[in-house]
Amino acid sequence: MNLFLLAAMLGLVVGSFLNVVIHRLPSGGSLIRPGSSCPSCKSSIRWWDNIPLISFLCLLGKCRSCKTAISPRYPLVEVLTALVFCASLAVKGPVLDTFLRDWPILAILIAVCFIDLSHRIIPDSLSLGGWGYAFVTSFFSSHIEWQDALAGGLLGFFIFFGFSWLYFRMSGKEGLGGGDVKLLGFLGAFLGISSVLMIILVSSVAGSLIGGGLALAKKSEVMGYAIPYGPFLVLGALVYYFFGGVWLQNIVPM
Ligand SMILES: [Zn+2]
Repeated sequence: MNLFLLAAMLGLVVGSFLNVVIHRLPSGGSLIRPGSSCPSCKSSIRWWDNIPLISFLCLLGKCRSCKTAISPRYPLVEVLTALVFCASLAVKGPVLDTFLRDWPILAILIAVCFIDLSHRIIPDSLSLGGWGYAFVTSFFSSHIEWQDALAGGLLGFFIFFGFSWLYFRMSGKEGLGGGDVKLLGFLGAFLGISSVLMIILVSSVAGSLIGGGLALAKKSEVMGYAIPYGPFLVLGALVYYFFGGVWLQNIVPM
């Protein structure tokens, strides 16, 4: 069977589970029980209405019982996970690192993005759990040395910890959330010390552009309204993950 087809199918299934994580983790619910139910009418969802992407299309995006529209986030997360898995397979190749280290971590990062977007939090179980997973798996990885994962994990954490401490000392306000500090630690442990600078660069440029755009669009409404920073950090990490080799060869003199 074609490996990319397999990656896409696994991505859809994992994405479907990530939807459960995104929906239930912030409120502390169990990830396993009860089975899926419609958030609107609470009727339980039969397995044939719960097939990733296919069921959403067959149901035309509506609950079978109450006809309430199903959030487009569900198929979006499934398709995004499938695309990320396929892209990862294309760039990193069919090696154990890709399947056992990268895919679980990429899946966690997708959950982090959507939870931060809807709840403005990054659960410790994802950021610290991911940090631990990225570090432990670096011992078995052929892509990264454990010393690099350790150094990246510490640099990511302390650089943002330092920023937020300084900002707090100077302005008396909290700038970066603790979740962002731990997330950058996780990303540094995943991708190594040379990724940290690029993640900060990409995330702050993208964050300023989109934050500035939102501020212009909504004028004063948006003032004092913090957009979550986690998704931008993840974006920076994905840019490094997929294009990092190019960056290191062409931009940083080695
Ligand atoms: Zn319903």
